Amino acid sequence: MRDENCIFCKIIEGKIPSRTIYEDEDFKVILDANPASKGHALILPKNHYANVYEIDEEIFAKAAKLAKKLTAHMTKKLGCDGFNLLQNNGEVAGQTVFHFHMHLIPRYKSMKNNDLLNWTHLELTDSQQDEICEKLKCEF
Ligand code: 5GP
Ligand code: ZN
Repeated sequence: MRDENCIFCKIIEGKIPSRTIYEDEDFKVILDANPASKGHALILPKNHYANVYEIDEEIFAKAAKLAKKLTAHMTKKLGCDGFNLLQNNGEVAGQTVFHFHMHLIPRYKSMKNNDLLNWTHLELTDSQQDEICEKLKCEF
């Protein structure tokens, strides 16, 4: 399951070079070419899924398990002070490569520009929040 126009599929096939820190039958984990911090890495499933809507549930679960292991490993090796796990879906959400990936972003107290993920907070009324809550209540 590859997309011939996808840059991450090409990386997975070795057609484009990457700095690989981990590989197994389902995933390749590479350093981000334009890192937000030292050690910024990306978990790439080997099969092409555009985003979280498309990804196989089992592979998503495996990606989450791998993210936990890598977070511990990378924190130990890098001596970072915190960690962001981030995953963008759709252009409006900041996705620029449309092959599912999870960002592993080590965070450092010492880093000068530590304002990587700063968003402004919406001021919603209680009734707006109640309405959203009612709409989203679910059981699976
Ligand atoms: P997105 O914005 O889609 O969540 O993240 C895409 C990420 O892929 C960006 O952080 C970008 O720096 C990284 N990226 C894009 N092209 C390449 C590439 O060819 N090689 C590597 N290693 N990273 C890439
Ligand atoms: Zn792909």
